[in-house]
Amino acid sequence: MAYTVPKLADYSAEALDKAVAKLLSALETEAAAVASESDWNTFRDRWLARKNGILTLVNDLWLKAAPKDAKREVGQRVNEVKARVEERVAGVKPERVVSYTGSGASVIPKLAVAATGTSGPRVIIEERPLDITLPGIRRPMGAEHPVIKTMNEIVSVFRNLGYSVEEGPEIETDYYNFEALNFPPNHPARDTQDTIFIAGQESKPLRDRLLLRTHTSPVQIRTMEKQRPPVRVVCPGKVHRNDAPDATHSPIFHQVEGLAVDTNITFCDLKGTLDHAMKALFGSSVKTRFYPSFFPFTEPSADVQISCIFCGGKGTRDGGPCRNCKASGWIELLGCGMVDPNVYRFVNYDSKKISGFAFGMGVERIAILKYGVDDIQLFFQGDVRFLEQFG
Ligand SMILES: [Zn+2]
Repeated sequence: MAYTVPKLADYSAEALDKAVAKLLSALETEAAAVASESDWNTFRDRWLARKNGILTLVNDLWLKAAPKDAKREVGQRVNEVKARVEERVAGVKPERVVSYTGSGASVIPKLAVAATGTSGPRVIIEERPLDITLPGIRRPMGAEHPVIKTMNEIVSVFRNLGYSVEEGPEIETDYYNFEALNFPPNHPARDTQDTIFIAGQESKPLRDRLLLRTHTSPVQIRTMEKQRPPVRVVCPGKVHRNDAPDATHSPIFHQVEGLAVDTNITFCDLKGTLDHAMKALFGSSVKTRFYPSFFPFTEPSADVQISCIFCGGKGTRDGGPCRNCKASGWIELLGCGMVDPNVYRFVNYDSKKISGFAFGMGVERIAILKYGVDDIQLFFQGDVRFLEQFG
């Protein structure tokens, strides 16, 4: 006969003890009978269900119904009962279910002992016939992150032109990030790159203070310090700026910087190289044009625009103005220029004998155009639904 919670007529200590003892003995008997996950579910619901579970009934029939002067005594016991029931329910929960297929007899006795033992995790063995028609476990393939993929594509375009790859530290000194690139202290161009500085370095000279690099250009300096011309390198990497995140800005992004220094390098070489690179990245019908610009470490400097890949440079699409190029037919993509002779002084190159060019491009910007992504934040949110589209 299954246990039911009795109404109490007698609230004396002895009567309460007796009622509690009866309940606990029922609890033990039922706990011992749990032999599978479904047994356990039934057991748990019978004792703990909010509606009509034994604990709820104990609360209603014993505590709530108790006369005022017995409440304290009853409350104490109800709390004890509650703790004991919860402990037993948790205690007999099957810890794991071992699926057993076929007739691996040697495995079974050991596990069976664990299942019937009184201490240690309970193991419940579920016997299932082997069904070879069940679908297998699908292990999804990983995919390159679109930013890394784009960065690798850019790098490979320049590798094919004979450039090698150089990398540098993300935590840079003021000297490499600014000074050696011809940004003197207090130069206004420093303001255009909202820099994240490492705290607590006021005692150091300015040039030794650490910051998160705002561009990959310091790698140019580090490379030229290490090697004499000719130099042809691309420097891919992560950079940081104190920009508030929005659809087009992120405090972390990636750049690929390029540097070519040799005898007789001219602006024509720069134009030809970048025109080739843009065609390799966006298709052979893409045109480029160069606009005067300013960077402290190049002179002259230029911004490079490519003909809009969405409207083919017409500025109109689907009978209306093209949104991607703001109807101009051109999209601004990167900065470049001839290396400023001042920069060579920092690395002991003779600016009378050599010349060179440098360029830098934002990887996310190119990925956004190539893959039609409308929000830079998507690259950094780690949402698999977005990322797996690039697999
Ligand atoms: Zn357009």
